[in-house]
Amino acid sequence: MILNSLNPAQQEAVQAPLGHQLVLAGAGSGKTRVLIHRIAWLIENEKISPFNILAVTFTNKAANEMRSRLEKMLHVTAKSMWIGTFHGLSHRFLRTHWQEAGLPQSFQILDSADQFRMIRRIINTLNLDEDRFPPKETQWFINAQKEEGREPHQVDTHDFTTQTLIKIYQAYHEACQRTGAIDFADLLLKTHKLLLSNTQLLAHYQERFRCLLVDEFQDTNAIQYAWLKLFAGDSNSVTIVGDDDQSIYGWRGARIENIQRFSKDFPSAKVIRLEQNYRSSGTILKAANALIEQNSGRLGKNLWTDGKEGELITIYAGFNETDEAFFIVNRIRDLQQNDYALREIAVLYRSNAQSRVIEEALMQFGIPYRVYGGLRYFDRQEIKDALAYLRLIANRSDDSAFERIINTPTRGIGDRTIATIREHAKSFSLTLWDALQQLIEQKFFSTRTEMSLLAFMELINTMTEKTLTLELHKQVEYVLCTSNLIEHYRKEKGEKGLTRLENLEELVNAAHQFSQDGISEDMPPLAAFLAYAALESSDEQADAYDDCVQLMTLHSAKGLEFPAVFLAGCEEELFPHYLSMNNPKAIEEERRLCYVGITRAMRKLYMTYAEVRRTYGKEAYHRPSRFLHEIPVELVDEIRFRTKTTKVMTHSQNKAFAYKPEAQGQFRVGQKVYHRIFGNGTVLDCEGDGEEMKVKVNFVKAGTKTLIASYLTAK
Ligand code: ATP
Ligand code: MG
Repeated sequence: MILNSLNPAQQEAVQAPLGHQLVLAGAGSGKTRVLIHRIAWLIENEKISPFNILAVTFTNKAANEMRSRLEKMLHVTAKSMWIGTFHGLSHRFLRTHWQEAGLPQSFQILDSADQFRMIRRIINTLNLDEDRFPPKETQWFINAQKEEGREPHQVDTHDFTTQTLIKIYQAYHEACQRTGAIDFADLLLKTHKLLLSNTQLLAHYQERFRCLLVDEFQDTNAIQYAWLKLFAGDSNSVTIVGDDDQSIYGWRGARIENIQRFSKDFPSAKVIRLEQNYRSSGTILKAANALIEQNSGRLGKNLWTDGKEGELITIYAGFNETDEAFFIVNRIRDLQQNDYALREIAVLYRSNAQSRVIEEALMQFGIPYRVYGGLRYFDRQEIKDALAYLRLIANRSDDSAFERIINTPTRGIGDRTIATIREHAKSFSLTLWDALQQLIEQKFFSTRTEMSLLAFMELINTMTEKTLTLELHKQVEYVLCTSNLIEHYRKEKGEKGLTRLENLEELVNAAHQFSQDGISEDMPPLAAFLAYAALESSDEQADAYDDCVQLMTLHSAKGLEFPAVFLAGCEEELFPHYLSMNNPKAIEEERRLCYVGITRAMRKLYMTYAEVRRTYGKEAYHRPSRFLHEIPVELVDEIRFRTKTTKVMTHSQNKAFAYKPEAQGQFRVGQKVYHRIFGNGTVLDCEGDGEEMKVKVNFVKAGTKTLIASYLTAK
């Protein structure tokens, strides 16, 4: 049964005797499938208990899918099995062993935005210049050190700048310890450190996890690899699956070399290659193969399919990003008519910011969609506010939460007061909460300020008291009502305010859902929910619709597949990204990202670009991405909206643009015009004539935009 739906090479991998193996294979060849079937095989045939299995996936979503597929296959519950991301599993470990790790029981996870704020605060309190030490870059520096497993005192100092960065890192490190907060990288570091120093604990876990399995191994970094080796010990079986051509996190410290290193560190590992692709049409696979061949130093593989050639790849040249978005939406409507469900369609892009224009076009046509990453539910302002209340209830030392809500909603506590509290906290190494308490005891503030501050403290204390015995979703509900956040956001007019209120209400549902699915026996529900919010934010989103178009960055599309895929923004500087332009290694990583994008598609692939794009508030003209040129022309069907321009690609059919312009004609400077999305505006400038006329318009609500005339109606 477990072997039925597998080809011989896959069967070999699944049935391999206990020991180490490395499954090295291209996209869509069934690596993830092999991993899941291998676990089922181990349980059924090798009689390994789920309790003895540890499986690492790349996202929380993949972990949930793996768990539920196993439960279906085996008709057992997989609760005792450890399946999750490196971060999620480390978190589970630290929740159980907080004492040994020297952490407070209610330790909080700092997500990336919290971390950023904390670093900026430290740069300011150290009286450093933010221009010289930009918080974002400092954050990057700190995380890079952590990913290599280096604590502040272990970083080499070369020059004054590095010395200062280390000073910031040190202060950040101390602040985290003082407030009982840990960031994403700490989850791994602390787990690793604890296991290294506590031989008893290490022996216990090495005894327990007899089989370790890792998906997407090509994207592990140094600390993750060390973590894995430690759990593996000398006698446990390790199965890793990966594809060197899909390594896309080099910028975050991932090391493709870990694949070679694995073969060295586990010399008995058996290498298995899978070469048949089951996902994509012949055309899509050929395009992917041709593209990735341009990279050097590949481990090399030969990927084939016995599926149909399928449809040509459509490349579309949009006039600008709005035109590109409308093309996408029109094609989505066509696909819908051809029996594609919306959830079978994905729009992928290189940068998060690209989603906005596409979202606008989708909204315009009332097509439901869902965004992974970027506009993430748990990242939204109002949700972070509500979570901050919950965090402070769970843990008074949570300085980030404290700062976020001390004056949200406004309660007359000014920046100066907050700065005083911060100063006092720093001088006496206190948390902000404790500093505030001391200052009040010392009668430091004016009576009015003191009243506001006392009211705030009392609010939090009452919330804690009253919610102590409530169920999780009731806790959330109570906090939403008594914090006045609902009232606060009700004041925000229009659609935006309404959405915020809906989001807040959704939080009660999220909590309810969470306690129903709740899988953590190790921690109080509120702490578990908060950790979930911090960890899940990148790949879970409360979705209003089940059947909706999937929008996401190329990075978050890894491992997924969709019948139809749009790859938007295929322009030089955007994709490949401008930061990679002068670095051949970085260009290769961008190419792998493109390979990941193309290989997500099963039946139909569209690649689009815009000739003019507004980025950072400026209009820029970019050439079509080099990756488009690397796809053999016979696989491509190219559409351009204008007929007169010279072709970028030789093979083209010049089909008519499906989106019919509504109005044609001339416009003059000063004329009032209307656009379906941007509303009313005034013409600032015109260029060209007839159908090709470009018009610069100052829209009342949307600001200045340049469009083709045919999208505008004269008023
Ligand atoms: P990626 O590199 O993108 O992560 P992968 O190698 O993990 O891909 P899977 O996602 O496991 O590939 O499989 C790709 C698709 O092919 C899935 O839809 C899977 O169900 C299907 N598939 C894999 N093996 C077989 C098989 N032997 N018979 C039929 N379908 C298969
Ligand atoms: Mg996979």
